[in-house]
Amino acid sequence: MSHTLAAIEPTTGRKPAVLRSAGETRAQIAAWRRGGDRIALVPTMGALHDGHLSLVRLAQEKADRTIVSIFVNPTQFAPSEDFEKYPRTFEADAARLASVGADAIFAPQAAAIYPEGFSTAVTVKGPATAGLEDRFRPDHFGGVATVVAKLHNIVAPDIAIYGEKDFQQLAVIRQMNRDLDLPVEVLGGATIRAGDGLALSSRNAYLSESERSIAPLLYRTLCACRDAIANGEAPEPALERGRQALAAAGFKTDYLELRDAQTLAAPALADRREGRLLVAARLGATRLIDNIAVPAFRN
Ligand code: AMP
Repeated sequence: MSHTLAAIEPTTGRKPAVLRSAGETRAQIAAWRRGGDRIALVPTMGALHDGHLSLVRLAQEKADRTIVSIFVNPTQFAPSEDFEKYPRTFEADAARLASVGADAIFAPQAAAIYPEGFSTAVTVKGPATAGLEDRFRPDHFGGVATVVAKLHNIVAPDIAIYGEKDFQQLAVIRQMNRDLDLPVEVLGGATIRAGDGLALSSRNAYLSESERSIAPLLYRTLCACRDAIANGEAPEPALERGRQALAAAGFKTDYLELRDAQTLAAPALADRREGRLLVAARLGATRLIDNIAVPAFRN
């Protein structure tokens, strides 16, 4: 696959335990706890790439045992979205997790997470209402927050690791975890990119060859906006230029915005805080998201 693979994928030959139910998972976690182990959870929807594996690596640095969940969560997809065609590659995922030495995989069926009669939903306000993803996917973060609350409760890890690739999702999860007093430390992992800058994503597999060749413009546009803002240009004209460059290349942009990196609020005038540039844009039928840091700036 990508050039980073060899560097992060030594062969261990140890197969992770595959756990299908909450009960099996709790029993495995309890056994590890009896041995005094610290436990890290890496939640995923599978179709694993080097970005996911980098989170496993981070988990292994921070804990004695790493459990990776693989669950394509139906409640975070709108009816019009790609739930049915989302790539499901369990055998390949399990082999990749074995090769990096993950200890267990929690791979429940939907009925194990949402049994008949399931009636609860977690709603997060604050960062989730920042007008970014939530404006275009209004029910998405409710589905994410609900399944993540369940995963944090079922696995009850010491730490749970999420990618900065989904920057607003990470903010929503931190908020939910804090507000519900879940005794889990939430950590973010850096975005892993292909050599041409495109952030790795399971959805990149949907891109045609010509779309794939255009897709890195998303990251280049973020970098150009960041550099302009860091050099003192007012954000809005720089962002507008970025939106026009994306449109000229055939993207349909949902948003390209500068936000406060901590709060995700639109940055106030004369504020000197670290910013975050976030973008979502569609290329053909594929919706891509990305984001990068902007050093402390004056607006
Ligand atoms: P997903 O399977 O797409 O739900 O992603 C599972 C986790 O991997 C999430 O916490 C994502 O933010 C993270 N992730 C996805 N892509 C990347 C990437 N390119 N680099 C780092 N983390 C990623």
